[in-house]
Amino acid sequence: MNQPNSETTLVYLGLGSNLAEPVEQVKSARHAIARISGVNELACSSLYRSLPMGPQNQPDYINAVMAISTRLSPQALLQNLQAIEKAHGRERKGQRWGARTLDLDILLYGELFIDLPELVVPHNGIAERPFVLMPLSEIAPHLIIPGKGRIDDLLVNCPMTGLQRLD
Ligand code: ATP
Ligand code: MG
Ligand code: MG
Repeated sequence: MNQPNSETTLVYLGLGSNLAEPVEQVKSARHAIARISGVNELACSSLYRSLPMGPQNQPDYINAVMAISTRLSPQALLQNLQAIEKAHGRERKGQRWGARTLDLDILLYGELFIDLPELVVPHNGIAERPFVLMPLSEIAPHLIIPGKGRIDDLLVNCPMTGLQRLD
């Protein structure tokens, strides 16, 4: 994996979809993210199929994790990601954790801690969600998650039921 230069930050993003051809949504989102001005893609995990969190009366999810280097601020990156969600038909209404065409979350932004109304980093749930930890460990097996610990320790304590890596 290329190392970002000193003016950029290594960022991990979580991608998810469970509506309107989720595999294509996630692949398309990956390309859209790589084309954001000020972003370079460093790595992308395999795709995973996962069971829904929260409301169970919705389709399975497709998930992946990307590593990028970026010179964008966390807020500017979030704005770009939300624009990509919107362009992929994401509607922000209805139930928390309800079905969606595309969800793009900032998992880590370097080693920064952010606690703003619109942005919490490290992402809430990063240490407990199998569909985040598994793809993240695929591209960052030695990662230490700020405030949470080593990813391999977190994986050992995370039930992997319902998570399937796609070919
Ligand atoms: P979860 O955040 O638990 O995975 P979700 O992704 O379904 O749930 P969304 O509806 O996509 O939640 O986003 C709700 C709000 O979360 C957004 O308006 C956004 O401002 C905020 N948010 C806070 N922290 C982050 C983050 N690290 N990445 C993306 N959005 C975030
Ligand atoms: Mg999410
Ligand atoms: Mg989200």
